[in-house]
Amino acid sequence: MNRIDFVIIAFLVCMATGCGKTTHNVITVNGVVAAEAIGTTLPHEHILVDFIGADSIRPGRYTTDSVVAKALPYLIELKSKDCQTFIDCTPNYIGRDVNLLQRLSLESGVNIVTNTGYYGAAGQKYLPHHAFTESAEQLADRWIQEFENGIDETAIKPGFIKLGADAGPLTGEQKKIMKAGAITHLKTGLTIAVHSGDGNAAREELKIFLENGVAPDAFIWVHAQNEKDFTVFHEIASQGAWVEFDGLNADNTEEYVNMLTYMKKHSLLQRTLVSHDAGWYHVGEKNGGDFRAFTSLFTNLIPRLKEEGFSEEDIDQLIGKNPGEAFAVRIRRKV
Ligand SMILES: [Zn+2]
Repeated sequence: MNRIDFVIIAFLVCMATGCGKTTHNVITVNGVVAAEAIGTTLPHEHILVDFIGADSIRPGRYTTDSVVAKALPYLIELKSKDCQTFIDCTPNYIGRDVNLLQRLSLESGVNIVTNTGYYGAAGQKYLPHHAFTESAEQLADRWIQEFENGIDETAIKPGFIKLGADAGPLTGEQKKIMKAGAITHLKTGLTIAVHSGDGNAAREELKIFLENGVAPDAFIWVHAQNEKDFTVFHEIASQGAWVEFDGLNADNTEEYVNMLTYMKKHSLLQRTLVSHDAGWYHVGEKNGGDFRAFTSLFTNLIPRLKEEGFSEEDIDQLIGKNPGEAFAVRIRRKV
């Protein structure tokens, strides 16, 4: 055996046995970044939303220049806080525009991640007609196509699956898109982030993922702050799923301090994500309406957490390590 053969065989053995450190990637609109290198990350924000509804949404309701003029200063401000990665949670049929995201990423220097999947919350107003008629397998095929071939005839790929459901119990369509998400995950390794109306919805979503062979750590419970019973955070996170508190603003810092303190007390910080759900150039409003900055976390929350005894390591876990692990693309099967 020559040296090159030896290196190849050692590599294959290592891959097969999982020895050593395996590098996983996060998929951004400008290509892949090693999960360990995505740095400080906001896991749930939006550049643009168009709430007109799946029946009426169409291109040309805004100009890219007008959105860039509005949003770019906020991304540059974010970059000045040493935030390197921005997860854009606007799904298809609510204004997902991957060319816009790519341009903003290039001009700001912030990594941006986009998504595939459908949003079944808000009374299913944002589900396209075919979501009512097609099977879970057919819907998954559409999302897998985006992963394999790119979105909207670009080479830009989704970095996660974004789904949505109202407060439980889930409707038939909402259950179907969860199953489609599970099928897509098992084919692509994309993490499934689900807008969830309450803890009952999150519990039911996790059950569907498990029944379809997906491990809990492939699931992010989006908008966990909607649930007022903190024990549900414990129930979901202790199974390995991600609990995301993502409506932070300057006025609710103490609620976030309380929820994060609960997670720390129960040794669940390593399953916790935090973000603002901010931004939002509102298509249809004059000059995009009010745009909320992405910086409360840095200016308000982190100083308060430090006062409450959170260490630098805890903060790094929340906004550095956890997002990298949560969004690292890899298939997670239920064992
Ligand atoms: Zn959102």
